[in-house]
Amino acid sequence: MSYLVTGATGLLGSEILALSPESVGLSTKNCNLTDTSRLDFCQNGKFNTVIHCAAKVGGVKANTDYVADFFDSNVRMNMNVLQACKEGRFKLVSVLSTCIYPDSAYVKYPLSEDQLHLGPPHHTNFGYAYSKRMLEVQSRAYRQQFGCNFTTVIPNNLYGVNDNYDLSSGHVIPSLIRKFHEAIINKKKEVVIWGTGKPLREFTFARDAAQIILWLAENYNGEKPVNIGNPEQVSIENLALAISGEMRYSGTIRFDNTKPDGQFMKPSSNQFLRSLGWKGEYTPLREGLKETINSFKVRYPNVRGVMI
Ligand code: GDP
Repeated sequence: MSYLVTGATGLLGSEILALSPESVGLSTKNCNLTDTSRLDFCQNGKFNTVIHCAAKVGGVKANTDYVADFFDSNVRMNMNVLQACKEGRFKLVSVLSTCIYPDSAYVKYPLSEDQLHLGPPHHTNFGYAYSKRMLEVQSRAYRQQFGCNFTTVIPNNLYGVNDNYDLSSGHVIPSLIRKFHEAIINKKKEVVIWGTGKPLREFTFARDAAQIILWLAENYNGEKPVNIGNPEQVSIENLALAISGEMRYSGTIRFDNTKPDGQFMKPSSNQFLRSLGWKGEYTPLREGLKETINSFKVRYPNVRGVMI
C-alpha cells in the first residue's frame, strides 16, 4: 500500500515514510498546506489514503507564547486537507495528541477516547488543543454528511531520531538530550530542567507510532478516535536521570520552577486499540532513548533545530 503523508519531514511523518518508502511525502518545501488555494496537492493518483501528520507543534512554552499561531495554522491546514480529501474521495487518517484531552478536573484517568470533548483543555495549550479537537469534529461531520472515510488517531508524547532540537520550541526529550550534550562538550557543571520535575508523561517512540498508524490505515475505518501511545508513565525527574545516565553526564541537575510544568499528567488507555486487534509491543523507553541519543550524537550539530 502507498499513502500520501503530510508533514513528511517531521518526527512522525519521516518514520511513516521510512516504513512505507513507496508512499509520497508532502512538506512545507513542496506544498504549503495553510494556503487555501492549494487544493491540488493530492492529485497524483498513486494512493487512496492520506495520512495527515502535518501540524504546527511545539513544547509547553511555545504553545503558550504563540497560542494564536498554533490555532490558526492548524485550523487552516486541516480545512484544506479535509476539503481536498473529500473532493478526491480519499480515506484520511489524521493525527491528534493526548494533550488535547480535557484538563484533570473533567476526566477519569486513564484517558479514553470518549472523554475527548468533556471539558476545556489545559490553559497552557488551548490554541493547539482546540484546533486539533476541531480536526476530530470536522472529520466526524464529513463522515456523517458526505460519507467520507475519515478517522483520527491520538498519540501521546512522541520522541525519536528526527526530532526538533530547538530549545525554545522543542519538546522535553530532544531539549534534554541537547542540553546534556552541550553541557558535556562545554564542561558545564549544571543543567537546568524546566518546572518542578514532578509532572508525569507517557512517551512513545515515533517509529512505534508510525507502525501503529500504518496498521490502522489498513485495518480501521471507524469514526471513533484511537489512542495509540505507550501507556507507561515516567516523571520528568526520572526522565532527566535516564537521559543524563545514558549520556554519562556527571554534573548536577537543577529544576527551574519559574518555567511551566504544563499539565500534571495525561495518562491514556490503549484498550480500544488492543480491542481492534493490534498485538504489537512498544519499544521500551530506555531502548528508544539510547537509539535517539546515539543518532543525535553522530549527527550533532547537523540536527533539526540546531542547524538551520
Ligand atoms: P507537554 O507534554 O505538552 O507539556 O510537552 P513538553 O515536552 O514541552 O514538556 C513536558 C514536561 O517536561 C513539562 O512538564 C516541562 O516543564 C518539562 N520540561 C523540563 N525541561 C524541559 C525543556 O527543556 N523543554 C521542554 N519543552 N520541557 C521541559
